[in-house]
Amino acid sequence: MAQPHAWGLRSAAFIIALFVFGLNTATQLHDAFAVLYVLVVLLIATSCGLRTILATGAACIGLSCLSFLVKHHGESFDDAYLRLAVSIIAIGVATMLSARDRRTRDALAEQVRMLAFTHDTVIVRDLDDTIIYWNEGAVRLYGWHADEAIGEKGSALLQSTHLPPAAAEQLRLVGQWTGEITRTRRDGQQIVLDVRWSVRLDSNGRECGIIEFGADLTEQKEAAAERERSEQRYSAIFQAVAFAIFEVDCSVVDILFREKRRLPEASWRDCLERFRDKPYIRDANDAAAALLEVEDPRKLTGAPLRSLFADESVFIAVLAHLSNSNVAYETETTFVGPNRRSRDVVLRVTRPVGDLESRRVLVMALDITEHNQAQMKLRAAQGELAHADRVTTLGQLAVSIAHEVNQPLSAITTFARSGRRWLDRSQPKVGEALLCFDEIVSNSTRAAEVITRVRALTRKETVFCTAMDLGELVEEVRVLLRGEILRRHVEVRIEKAVDTPMVSGDRIQLQQVIMNVMMNAIQAMSIVVDRPRVLEIRIGRGQAGPDTAVLSFCDTGPGFGDIADGQLFEPFVTTKAQGMGMGLPICREIAHAHGGTINALNRSPYGAVVIVTLPQRRV
Ligand code: ADP
Repeated sequence: MAQPHAWGLRSAAFIIALFVFGLNTATQLHDAFAVLYVLVVLLIATSCGLRTILATGAACIGLSCLSFLVKHHGESFDDAYLRLAVSIIAIGVATMLSARDRRTRDALAEQVRMLAFTHDTVIVRDLDDTIIYWNEGAVRLYGWHADEAIGEKGSALLQSTHLPPAAAEQLRLVGQWTGEITRTRRDGQQIVLDVRWSVRLDSNGRECGIIEFGADLTEQKEAAAERERSEQRYSAIFQAVAFAIFEVDCSVVDILFREKRRLPEASWRDCLERFRDKPYIRDANDAAAALLEVEDPRKLTGAPLRSLFADESVFIAVLAHLSNSNVAYETETTFVGPNRRSRDVVLRVTRPVGDLESRRVLVMALDITEHNQAQMKLRAAQGELAHADRVTTLGQLAVSIAHEVNQPLSAITTFARSGRRWLDRSQPKVGEALLCFDEIVSNSTRAAEVITRVRALTRKETVFCTAMDLGELVEEVRVLLRGEILRRHVEVRIEKAVDTPMVSGDRIQLQQVIMNVMMNAIQAMSIVVDRPRVLEIRIGRGQAGPDTAVLSFCDTGPGFGDIADGQLFEPFVTTKAQGMGMGLPICREIAHAHGGTINALNRSPYGAVVIVTLPQRRV
């Protein structure tokens, strides 16, 4: 938008143009009036742009020619032609000078606008330090508007400090000074500026003030201070951590790996060979020195990273990973120190965020040498334990077989003696002796079967498909133990409920359970003299669930006394002088192998009860 006074100037120019044209055309005075068109051009030049100036100049020349034609048409060449030429030259020169002046003023205005809107501050002061120019950058930075700042004394308004005394001297000698100064903004905040002062000269070349260009350094200063603080924190952590950290410059090899795809295999290998010692240790912490048994971590700086690795392929893998990925790389390897002592380490190699050129790669190493040695010892100990376990199992097997075979062997001895007695008579009873021999055969067969079953049990090879009636099993065992029952004066009562479920399993093994429990009860009751020695065996359906069968053996003996329930079923727990403490553990093993349980309890006021549960047979 043009200013109002510009419109006034244009209107005046228009009126003058009309007036000059009128005078020039209508009057018979000399044509020298045409020179007054110069006034029109000058008025337009002060208020209009370049094109309008040129157009005005052309129009004025046109009007001069028109007036000339109107007055002098058909006349021969005389002074009038010369006056027209002078007028045209005057208008043309005025137009050209005005156009040039306009161009210069436009360029200056552009520069002033740039100065006004630059982010940097531009302040001009006169010799008395009075501010005479204050740009937009200064408004933004200091907070005062131009009309508030202009006219004020610069040093009072901006409270400059840290102004070096040499600044004035340098200004005087060189005419310029550059440096940092601290000033105070309108809101009271102190700011640091990077300023450049130039001496301002008037048209006579005399000093008339100072032009100042300034850039705010506060943020840069704060960022630098923050960087330094962060660097100090990093350094503190670097030294304080308990594990080894090496800061490594991998930049050369990083570039090489990035080029890998473009290089032929042979030259790539060749390059790798040449550059593998390039990644070097820039810094190492105290823990790193301790790990490699070096007194001072500085002795490690400059050393090639490769020299730490016992296995070069791990080193190459680390570099390859670094060039391919930003994710940390973890592996286990062995480091070798300058004294050739090796340490097992868990390695974590990571490139800090922003380190795109791999100049500060962090190689962190956690010493696991002791841990690995302990692991090896543990493995050796486990091997020994496994061996000991096998030996113990063998021992238990031998003891179990001995325990279980004991009963058939004593039966064989008894029947052999009776058979001998039947034959040793004056009239030998061959029939009775034959019965004894039959018993010997059946007991030795049973002994062999027991051995097979105990071995099968320890190898967990029991086959459970045979269906069995628990009542029949108990009856069979009672028959086998009849000699013992009679000898110890024990009354055995068997009660079987009609709904007792059938069970399935290994007949001989289940007979062993029943026999062991009955023998224990019979033997325990042999010390009882003040009450009947009764062994009650109840067979029925489990109360806990309909699909279990239960066998309970209640005796009138002394009970288990202080032997804790759990302990009873541990191997080698016995109160008998000749006992082995293997009967109940074998019973528990067999019951568990059949999917059942066995428990032992004291009865009140005396006696013991052993309860065996077995799952019902599934068809
Ligand atoms: P062993 O018969 O060789 O001692 P067992 O494992 O069969 O081995 O029995 C372990 C111990 O449990 C016995 O020594 C005995 O003290 C105790 N015991 C087992 N059954 C009874 C019972 N019915 N009454 C009292 N004590 C028993």
